[in-house]
Amino acid sequence: MLGFSIVNVNQTFDFLEALEASGIPMFSDERDEKSPLVVVGGASAINPMPLGLFADIIIMGQGEEAIFRCTEVMAKGKREGKSKSEILEEIKIIDGVYVPSAVGENIDFAEIDYKEDKYPPGSIMVMDGKASIIISRSCPYECAFCRLSSSQHYQKKSYQQIMQHLSLLQAAGAKEVAIVSASASAWRSGDMNINDIIKATQELGMTPKSLADRPEQIGFGNQNSVVLAPETSPKLRKEVLNKSIKEKALREAVVKALTIGVNKFTFYGILGIKGETEEDLGYFNELAAFTLYQAELEGATPPTIEFNVMPLMPSPHTQLETFPMVSWDDFRAKIEKLNEAVPNQEQVKFYTHLSELDYYLEAILNRGTISEGRLCFDAYRHAKHHEVSYLQALKEVIVEKNININDYLQAREISQLPYKGIVQPTPKRKPRSQS
Ligand code: SF4
Repeated sequence: MLGFSIVNVNQTFDFLEALEASGIPMFSDERDEKSPLVVVGGASAINPMPLGLFADIIIMGQGEEAIFRCTEVMAKGKREGKSKSEILEEIKIIDGVYVPSAVGENIDFAEIDYKEDKYPPGSIMVMDGKASIIISRSCPYECAFCRLSSSQHYQKKSYQQIMQHLSLLQAAGAKEVAIVSASASAWRSGDMNINDIIKATQELGMTPKSLADRPEQIGFGNQNSVVLAPETSPKLRKEVLNKSIKEKALREAVVKALTIGVNKFTFYGILGIKGETEEDLGYFNELAAFTLYQAELEGATPPTIEFNVMPLMPSPHTQLETFPMVSWDDFRAKIEKLNEAVPNQEQVKFYTHLSELDYYLEAILNRGTISEGRLCFDAYRHAKHHEVSYLQALKEVIVEKNININDYLQAREISQLPYKGIVQPTPKRKPRSQS
């Protein structure tokens, strides 16, 4: 059995390269009894269809229980002398597992019953006095666009487990500990919250570091920069994204950050949400103006404010999965417009770290079927042949085949989505505007 975790969409090509470099046929139907079973999982395999040409088994959501169940079935099958296809027939009924050769395109996943005691202990690794501790996985909030909370169950370590881990890090020489969690402010254990972990870390003589993305997290450790994720205007945040950050709490967090000496703000934003108006876009500039005004009131040096924005890319299994994707050109035009409205671009800047091709690849893998897996394979071959990057090759293949990439960006009816029939691993409330 050979396993790959595809976290980032670009790793799809690394996966193909790894198969080829290992001398393993890339297409699953070309592999014989002697070839290993190829298992794929990870955040970018959440729409399993495009990878269905290459993988024997695709694991959705958290794989650590499903993978043990697969290995048990495989070991038993081998002991009993079963063929690969017989073993795959048995594996296909494991919750959260998709076996393309046995199931075809008729996918139906059930909810997986994860157990908290299976939470892995995490590594004790200290480099230059720096270490990290993961206190929870996934997120208990229910943002309608978020793949993380829709596909993975929230799991957290107990205070005792965290204390044990911190003591081991201290003994290993850690001086600074990054407290890692998608949402540290949500962590609770009895009466204790994240502040008790921060305090315990300090009492052990180590400096806690936490990347804030919720207002409640502002003020941890020594911060001169903060990251907050308002995403969009308060109206769309509540009515479409279902994100529970209150505007009042967000603004209070900005003020608090300024009082503790923060001089760089990064705000995450999403552009191109269905129903977005000029007024919604104007919110970002209002937030920047508020932050600068508050800095002035505090007598602080004017901070740098960056808006790291992303286009709305509806992910499978989220409540927004059938929403239209904004086109790349419209998205870029919105960024330009926002930057034009900024009086001083040295101080306030809107940007995206996404490239047009990343965007297309993400669209293909989020909304594609098995035939889009073929497209990735063609791009892989093209890149090898013409010695261009995989993304460049993808663009050239799309042009060569005269494919209208915008087809992937359109709203798709639920009946057209390739992952029809999947039960969301974590059922969520519907945002109001979608009903
Ligand atoms: S707060 Fe929302 S966007 Fe952030 S990880 Fe949790 S569910 Fe996802």
